[in-house]
Amino acid sequence: MTRQILIINFEEIYLKGKNQKIFIKQLIRNLKRKLKPFSEFIKFEKSHGGSFFIEIIKEIPRDFLYHIIEILKKTPGITGIYIADVAGITLEEIISASLQHIKNYQEEFDSFAVIAKRINKSVDFSSLDIGREVGSAIHDTFQKRVDLTHPDLKLYIKVRGKYTIIYSKIIPGIGGLPVGTSGKAIAMLSGGIDSPVATFMAMNRGLHITAAHFHSVPKTSPESIEKVKKIVKQLTDFQGEIKLYLIPVLKIQQAIAQNTDSRLRLILLRRIMLKIGERIAAEQKAKALITGDSLGQVASQTLENMRATEEGIKNIIIRPLVALDKKFIIKKAREIGTYEISILPHDDACSLFTPKSPETKADLKYTNEQYAKLNEYNLIEDALQQMETVIIS
Ligand code: ATP
Ligand code: MG
Repeated sequence: MTRQILIINFEEIYLKGKNQKIFIKQLIRNLKRKLKPFSEFIKFEKSHGGSFFIEIIKEIPRDFLYHIIEILKKTPGITGIYIADVAGITLEEIISASLQHIKNYQEEFDSFAVIAKRINKSVDFSSLDIGREVGSAIHDTFQKRVDLTHPDLKLYIKVRGKYTIIYSKIIPGIGGLPVGTSGKAIAMLSGGIDSPVATFMAMNRGLHITAAHFHSVPKTSPESIEKVKKIVKQLTDFQGEIKLYLIPVLKIQQAIAQNTDSRLRLILLRRIMLKIGERIAAEQKAKALITGDSLGQVASQTLENMRATEEGIKNIIIRPLVALDKKFIIKKAREIGTYEISILPHDDACSLFTPKSPETKADLKYTNEQYAKLNEYNLIEDALQQMETVIIS
């Protein structure tokens, strides 16, 4: 078997100076959890500048390796991955392993450059020797052209202590920060297109997410809950395990419908949702609430309405999509794999509850007066009593 090492790059973390250690530690902790099914095949090695290694320590089936790469590509904090071949430290071994490595990519390039470095200086050849010898071997074997300024492919060769690593093509990761390094947040997750994207973006800035979904079962179908579970499952690709709170709001909707101005229904419901979100945040020691609001996307998402909705909420409300176009949000939803689930037809808690002419510029004082007509305390306590939790992994 040819030995292999996965080189994990983390540019943004690299910029963190003294705090770098904390970020890398969290990233490795997250990866160990996500890669647990493959733990017998891999070993983590401490960091080398802007990267660290995952060594493949025994013969691994190709599809397992492929699976590991897929997980790495979807792990916040990783900017890129190289699959490096490992060779000995004689010039002959390096040349032969380089040719073997290049063989896999020969269709993909015409010009190339060899970038060689000796970390182990005790070998009896120089970096220039490696460049020259490997370069001419590749030229002769594959009829490829050397181009040191704008090569199609850069072949990196690093002679370390007892072995050499050889790598070329970077597999892009999603970047961002490791989940957990920014603290915890509660994501208000509907079955729609937007909130899953908002949740992903929050994770990718280092927030550890707990999801909260409000439903109107039995008025809405139980499938609406299954749909949200599927969305959460898709998001576990990025974070690993996610806790999902399911909160019934039918009684709250009834109370709102009976006691308040119908034009403000959605705003009042959203405010109660945020208040419940805040209770969950307290329980989870989370400091922020995440929503999928996007300014002006629908008539209800105006500054006035957002302001009237968030009245009385002490947690930070993060709206990652606030300034993003729908087009961009949809593109992102496709990339993270939630779009296809989100567009499945379903009846959500709010669509049945939407008044004919919803308020688009809610007056804060009037909204507060309407809100005061609700028995907030009882409604929230009752909903929390009925709340269920599921762990999705
Ligand atoms: P989405 O596509 O996320 O459903 P939307 O564009 O439909 O968003 P709204 O219906 O106005 O927008 O909801 C705004 C935000 O309120 C959502 O992005 C979500 O964060 C939260 N929200 C709405 N309905 C629910 C729900 N049933 N459970 C949890 N959060 C919800
Ligand atoms: Mg929605």
